[in-house]
Amino acid sequence: MTIARLSDLTSKAACPRLVVKVGSSLLVGSGGVRRDWLQGLVTEIAAARARGQDVIVVSSGAIALGAARLGLEKGGRGSLADAQAAAAVGQIALSGLWAELLAAHGITAAQLLLTLEDLEDRRRYLNATATLTRLLDAGAVPVINENDSVATQEIRFGDNDRLAARVAQAARASAVLLLSDVDGLFDTNPANPGARRLEEVRGVTAEIHAMASGGSASGMGSGGMTSKLQAAEIAERAGIALAIASGLHDAPIERACGQGIGTLFLPKDVRGRKDAGRKAWLGGRLRLKGALVVDAGAAKALERGGSLLAAGIVRVEGEFQRGDAVAVQNEQGAVLAHGLAEYDAADCLRVLGRKNAEQAELLGYAPRSAVVHRDQMVLI
Ligand code: GLU
Repeated sequence: MTIARLSDLTSKAACPRLVVKVGSSLLVGSGGVRRDWLQGLVTEIAAARARGQDVIVVSSGAIALGAARLGLEKGGRGSLADAQAAAAVGQIALSGLWAELLAAHGITAAQLLLTLEDLEDRRRYLNATATLTRLLDAGAVPVINENDSVATQEIRFGDNDRLAARVAQAARASAVLLLSDVDGLFDTNPANPGARRLEEVRGVTAEIHAMASGGSASGMGSGGMTSKLQAAEIAERAGIALAIASGLHDAPIERACGQGIGTLFLPKDVRGRKDAGRKAWLGGRLRLKGALVVDAGAAKALERGGSLLAAGIVRVEGEFQRGDAVAVQNEQGAVLAHGLAEYDAADCLRVLGRKNAEQAELLGYAPRSAVVHRDQMVLI
């Protein structure tokens, strides 16, 4: 059974494993932690567990909470050092609270603090997968956040929306529910009286992106609609449903799923496949080591499912090693695919534009069948 509507997120058959992401503005109010509200959400999580669903929580709020406790301005987001200090203070309180409230329902909480690299590096990603699987099998509810106190600008997700989508991939979840302070995606600014909420989106197109209005409305989290749509894209590539709904109400899961108030993003099936395992990880990668720019002929060959051959490459960008993830782009700069390079950047430059027969002499060794093999590539 697959997910077709919001109510399926609360069905064990359609959604055996659910990731619930909770935004900062829901967890932290002007008077500190919104404990009563969180208690209500935890009751809903306990109900999902009782139905037999696995639940993973991605909880924001460490920076907002820590900033309040330390008295830092701009919600702790004035500088990287402020954010890191605030997160260290906020995280310990936040995880304590989740553990306490879940324990009241007899559920064991487990904390995982992840950085971008933990999910970008294939071995570390598999390691996170193993830990999450073991925790869920043992009956725990993992409560995950970014490791904000050590993550520097370059190695940061920065928002928990994409983190939640990546976690869902790693844990092979069926769906992600992003609880924030909006009812979903609207066709124009939701403040406009005529704004209409989209109930279902299949495929995050340019038109859909144009509906996102930028940063976080509350000014507390870092996401806003832009990062939610990026999260939807990551989920889509892995065949995972993603919903955006408001957590501003009591029992928000029931409101979103029971009453159908939210926007549900479903994987569009145009390519007739859903990327499994390794390909989903590759497609969801956020940082790539370089790029291979290809001509129109090569772009067509990729669309038809072919490998990337040296003859179709017109430019090589970045410093990468054999086995690193690179983007494949057309000459207009659009990303066509992510793939693992069979050569390092220097050897890519040597064979660029050359037919297979010419390559052995240029390289000094027998060339590989492709620069990026189709089995190690996912179309974007
Ligand atoms: N990891 C951040 C925190 O715990 C939240 C990131 C976000 O706003 O999405 O404060």
